[in-house]
Amino acid sequence: MLDKVVIANRGEIALRILRACRELGIKTVAVHSTADADLMHVRLADESVCIGPASATESYLNIPAIIAAAEITDAVAIHPGYGFLAENADFAEQVEKSGFIFIGPKAETIRLMGDKVSAIACMKRAGVPCVPGSDGMLGDNDKENLAMAKRIAYPIIIKATAGGGGRGMRVVREEKELLKAISLTKQEAKAAFGNGDVYMEKFLETPRHVEIQVLSDSHGNAIHLGERDCSMQRRHQKVVEEAPAPGITEEMRRFIGERCVQACKEIGYIGAGTFEFLFEKGEFYFIEMNTRIQVEHPVSELITGVDIIKEQLRVAEGQPLSFKQKDIKIKGHAIECRINAEDPETFIPSPGEITRFHAPGGPGVRMDSHIYAGYKVPPYYDSMVGKLITYGENREVAIQRMKMALEEIVISGIKTTIPLQARIISDPKFQEGGANIHYLEKMLAQAKNDPNLNQIKDNNTEV
Ligand code: ADP
Repeated sequence: MLDKVVIANRGEIALRILRACRELGIKTVAVHSTADADLMHVRLADESVCIGPASATESYLNIPAIIAAAEITDAVAIHPGYGFLAENADFAEQVEKSGFIFIGPKAETIRLMGDKVSAIACMKRAGVPCVPGSDGMLGDNDKENLAMAKRIAYPIIIKATAGGGGRGMRVVREEKELLKAISLTKQEAKAAFGNGDVYMEKFLETPRHVEIQVLSDSHGNAIHLGERDCSMQRRHQKVVEEAPAPGITEEMRRFIGERCVQACKEIGYIGAGTFEFLFEKGEFYFIEMNTRIQVEHPVSELITGVDIIKEQLRVAEGQPLSFKQKDIKIKGHAIECRINAEDPETFIPSPGEITRFHAPGGPGVRMDSHIYAGYKVPPYYDSMVGKLITYGENREVAIQRMKMALEEIVISGIKTTIPLQARIISDPKFQEGGANIHYLEKMLAQAKNDPNLNQIKDNNTEV
């Protein structure tokens, strides 16, 4: 029985995990840095342990300190949330070796999917469509590499197998640039990830980012919860997410969803996971798998009625999934706006004290956030301070509710990206649906050149 869980994370996701545990009658242990003693979930948790100083390396990434906290509090399991140690196979392994349950897939699954070349090979075997590419690491034979790029056809992209966070990638448009690009990407990957292996893929010019949420248990059951569209991105960071993805038919959803479910069964996947795809001209191309809960999971929860974190907890305990595929019915539409403590034009982080906070409400409005009036946003971590999620019987209603919620919400004392979100939601191309992954950056570049557009009207960011 999972009677006590350590929440090895901070901010909104720590609070979200705490709420799921409470609903299931599971006790919680908050582990936090010295800078985070005032976090909402630390106040609400049954127990809390300070695991180190503000620096994440010494606290949220400090494996021995987290395991020691589980030991002294007699906890049974550790939930890693997202970011920090969530996709660290060594952490998962050490948690299990120390006698605790890691709430997530097995360490070997994390390792397999963390290496993009092995993940792609695995997906191909399971029948998941992938981007045409080198089918493995690039060797040192220049002639072979040149021939391969020609066969795939330019433009191509060189990617580090150990890459992450949008780093370790280089687009090559002409043959004469290829060899230099390969050696530069190898050097960078070696320096950044300690692994210089790279591979080659066709570069898709105007794809959308569409991903499939899956859930699997330890009894061989796997289901998918449909897709999310996360194409609104800035510097490879998602800004707005929605589900379902505009224009994806029931038939396409079934096609890609069934293949992801099949892949889960083949790799013995356990827990919640996401298959990320680029989607262009009606085709899906697998790029990577995230072996953890994702920031944008609420939009899938709202359109399916499944509490993904509760399922993670149940599955970690060894219970079967509470749903079969036939129980999953997609209904309505959900949109999520990430709210960051940043200047909405320059994106410079804006930590500090929140002097006033008013959460929006009404039908179909969900706010996942740990902030409160008087809370000080520390400068040490990711700048996301909350997620505003709206639901409606269709996309128009979800958009209208998001517009209203963004007008209602008040966060004073710090700058936030609320004005930017309001602009995205009112943008005609966003409202039409189906914009590609470059759209937001283009929109921002245009606004920079247009002084009228530059004046973001806002009552919220007064400092
Ligand atoms: P990371 O693990 O660093 O997030 P991904 O493999 O998920 O790396 O790729 C990150 C982003 O890079 C994608 O969302 C997309 O914008 C771009 N990208 C990656 N591969 C391709 C490709 N083959 N064609 C076009 N864009 C790509």
